Amino acid sequence: MARIFCVANQKGGVGKTTTCVNLAAALHEAGQRTLLIDLDPQGNATMGSGVDKRELGHSVYHALVGIAALAEVRVKSPSGGFDVLPANRDLAGAEVELVDLERRETRLRDLLEPHADDYDFILVDCPPSLSMLTLNGLCTAHGVIIPMQCEYYALEGLSDLVNTIKKVHANLNRDLKIIGLLRVMYDPRMTLQQQVSDQLEGHFGDKVFTTIVPRNVRLAEAPSYGIPGVLYDRSAKGAQAYQAFAQEMIERVRTL
Ligand code: ATP
Ligand code: MG
Repeated sequence: MARIFCVANQKGGVGKTTTCVNLAAALHEAGQRTLLIDLDPQGNATMGSGVDKRELGHSVYHALVGIAALAEVRVKSPSGGFDVLPANRDLAGAEVELVDLERRETRLRDLLEPHADDYDFILVDCPPSLSMLTLNGLCTAHGVIIPMQCEYYALEGLSDLVNTIKKVHANLNRDLKIIGLLRVMYDPRMTLQQQVSDQLEGHFGDKVFTTIVPRNVRLAEAPSYGIPGVLYDRSAKGAQAYQAFAQEMIERVRTL
């Protein structure tokens, strides 16, 4: 049965999409059947997987509002090999339309249920908000992966996210747990980053992933070619970190 993970943080630009795309590519390479769901109207995970968001027939929007079946929306990442439910600006409309639909928080869960045996991993790239779309991600997932930069303000935002996850756990999805905090865009030369990193370990213990993703320009370049960073330059430090993270995730899933 597929293990479903939401990559979420309501803060913008913290590395959610980069984490999703690279983890999906690395898991696929490791022989795991992987689906990446783009739940962000920005469509960055779609583009980063090499799928042109401007040329979609159907998108995840059509599946969520019930116009299309999952199989009609799903495409394969030409560069990464994993499956993608792509998104584009259409999805912004879903936010409003979902409000009037039945079981609005569990549309994504209902959509995925018949496909649980098609995959080992399903990854959901959430938008930078605690919106109805993110709520759909949280209601579907077994776990949340929280990418964060080791900055002072990162810790402040974290409590809102943790509270939301607790509420969803209590009311909507008893399976949901925080799988871990992933330190990304890490620069060890910055003393403050080291301090925040130590604080995270002290406070969250083994909820902090061992893998640390460094700031690495090759990871930032890769999306403009529509190639996951782990494949764009395999020898880059960033690519190697995401390969290691995929192995860490495979290990964690065994203990869940
Ligand atoms: P949003 O909230 O807008 O969806 P996000 O949380 O998905 O953003 P990304 O799009 O993954 O964040 O990353 C933000 C920017 O930082 C992008 O330009 C990306 O290429 C760059 N970036 C992400 N991770 C790294 C890294 N480890 N090293 C260098 N640049 C990175
Ligand atoms: Mg993103």
